[in-house]
Amino acid sequence: MSKLDFVLEELVTANRILANEGIVDSFGHVSARHPDNPKHYLLSRARAPERIERADIVEYTLEGEAIDNNAPAPYVERFIHGAIYEARPDVHAIVHNHSPSVIPFGVTGKKLKPFLHMCAHIGHEVPTWDSRDKFGDTTLLISDMNMGRDLARLLGSRPTTLMRGHGATVVGRSVRHSVFVSIYLEVGAKLQMQAMALGEIKFLSAGEIDQIVGRLNDYTLNRAWENWARRAGRQMQGS
Ligand SMILES: [Zn+2]
Repeated sequence: MSKLDFVLEELVTANRILANEGIVDSFGHVSARHPDNPKHYLLSRARAPERIERADIVEYTLEGEAIDNNAPAPYVERFIHGAIYEARPDVHAIVHNHSPSVIPFGVTGKKLKPFLHMCAHIGHEVPTWDSRDKFGDTTLLISDMNMGRDLARLLGSRPTTLMRGHGATVVGRSVRHSVFVSIYLEVGAKLQMQAMALGEIKFLSAGEIDQIVGRLNDYTLNRAWENWARRAGRQMQGS
């Protein structure tokens, strides 16, 4: 199997997992950097993640232009993906979602931070990008490269960012990694709201986060991926 075939199958599985685990509903998307051309990326046409087939996946330039002139209608927010791939050579997959438990943190000023070891991968503290700061009143959707680049600037070298009144964007070194962090971002947000209702939270220290992130290996990612893939009706490919 070629690297491209592998990544296309991974993207179908990623879409099904994110839908099945409640991270995306009819909206939200996941992309991968093209394995043979770092200046292109792969992303489905505009379609609900649960319904995506391999034939739906389109190759785009970083500016968001489809390589095939006859490509079907794209996601409006594809610029999130190109702008981050442009800024972050270390990133090979990106998830953009509207996962429900992260939304309250984007609108209240309460910082989303990890306190469960599995959530260390969301980063030391998740920043919030507010479209209104630079772009005023908008639909809140990232609809051009200017907005995408502004989001990429705030993301910096981090793995995650929230978007005020909208959702979150998560980056990873592989499709499996970006899905893993997306799922634990939702878990962490839900648990933090529960813990906040009980009292003062003891968050992970910076050193604990760095140690946990440093020992994340393919064994851990694959163990979760196999389970999530099968639960979503897909087989895990050899990695
Ligand atoms: Zn969105």
